[in-house]
Amino acid sequence: MANVFFGQIIHTKSFNEFEIFTNGFIAVDQKGKIVGVGNESVFDEWVTQHTNFKAVAVERLTKNQFLIPGFIDCHIHAPQVAQIGLGLDMPLLDWLNTYTFPLEAKYADQKFAEETYAKVVENTIRAGTTLASYFGTNHKESTLILAKEVLRQGQRALIGKVCSNQNSPDFYVETTEMTAAGTEEFVKEIQKLETDLVKPTITPRFALSCSKELMNKLGEIAHKNDLHIQSHISESLSEIDFVKSLYNTSYAEAYDNAGLLTPKTVMAHAVHLEDEEITLFGKRGTSVAHCPASNTMLSSGFCDVLRLIKNGIKVGLGTDVSGGNSMSIQDAILRALDVSHHLEFVKKQDIKGSGRLVTQDHTYQPLNYKQAIFLATLGGAEALAMGDITGNFVVGKYFDALIVDTSKYPLHNYQPSDSKAADLNLLEMVQKFIYVGDDRNISRVYVSGNQIKK
Ligand SMILES: [Zn+2]
Repeated sequence: MANVFFGQIIHTKSFNEFEIFTNGFIAVDQKGKIVGVGNESVFDEWVTQHTNFKAVAVERLTKNQFLIPGFIDCHIHAPQVAQIGLGLDMPLLDWLNTYTFPLEAKYADQKFAEETYAKVVENTIRAGTTLASYFGTNHKESTLILAKEVLRQGQRALIGKVCSNQNSPDFYVETTEMTAAGTEEFVKEIQKLETDLVKPTITPRFALSCSKELMNKLGEIAHKNDLHIQSHISESLSEIDFVKSLYNTSYAEAYDNAGLLTPKTVMAHAVHLEDEEITLFGKRGTSVAHCPASNTMLSSGFCDVLRLIKNGIKVGLGTDVSGGNSMSIQDAILRALDVSHHLEFVKKQDIKGSGRLVTQDHTYQPLNYKQAIFLATLGGAEALAMGDITGNFVVGKYFDALIVDTSKYPLHNYQPSDSKAADLNLLEMVQKFIYVGDDRNISRVYVSGNQIKK
């Protein structure tokens, strides 16, 4: 490999630090790591300091192209892609029972898993996802098939065999022993693959479907092997009441008492977290995967991500397929912006006759597109405790990147035929991509310097 790219580059350095290079360069070594980045004007000087670096390929991007870090999906259910778009007129618990559990049970069939997972990975890569935190199903073997498919196609991923031993249908539930043993075997099998791309993640479906005993066991397995953890928290009000009645604690404490809130834990949703729960997340260094599409579709509520971020919680974005209806993190960016604007309206509007809302805040500033790009890239990497290896273009990290081409349909600027098309500046191109673009504008996808979308 060993590539040098010259051209327009954007990335983020933190929630409020958005950096652009209108004439930039990125040098990538044979291992797929970034060894140089900056303005083209300092490239000659960089070369004199890196005499060992021999570029095999040098590419100059066109004026319609720019480099952006790969998208990170912090929460996606790979098996549910097979039912994407169905049952989204239902509340969470009905949707699970009517559609999701019967579908996930089908993954006992490994042939079905092979065919579906090949398509899932292909489609998330097409949408620009370089790193995904995938839920599999209760089946160890099928979830291993997902891991191997991710590896074959060259994506980066955290993958979990789902665990549940209660409050689930008879046809889709395991005993405590089965689900804990299956998890330990799954972890060993992934470790045998000897890859940096795929890591196992401990995956209790949610506190409702796991007994205290199982939660404790999963906490032990995670600590013993220093593993990532993923689950759901505080998605819908009826689910929260159910969890509280089972555990006699807050939802966050139900996980924390089992040692499942760690700096390597990402919890999806967190729509209705109480102040004490946010404090607990902060103490443990636990992150949130914000899933605006499914929160809207399943009528779960508004997640105020700015409240989480102000309290020091790391936040990334999740598509939450198929509670969400799109596999694209670019779509999740738009949904997150929508939710944030809607929250702003609620906080600022005076409802005639009802007095002021308790949540009213006339100073509330919604997310902007640059902050949403942070959530989709570096924010996601940090939420998955992988910010040291991916998420932006910093020397020492892997080159996980997208080449966006804004000359491709539908980003053409409409211009009367007698006038020359207007040249957009870099930030205008970024806005075009975010607000009206789609996966057709993502012309190439790289993970660890390897091109995985042709
Ligand atoms: Zn989910």
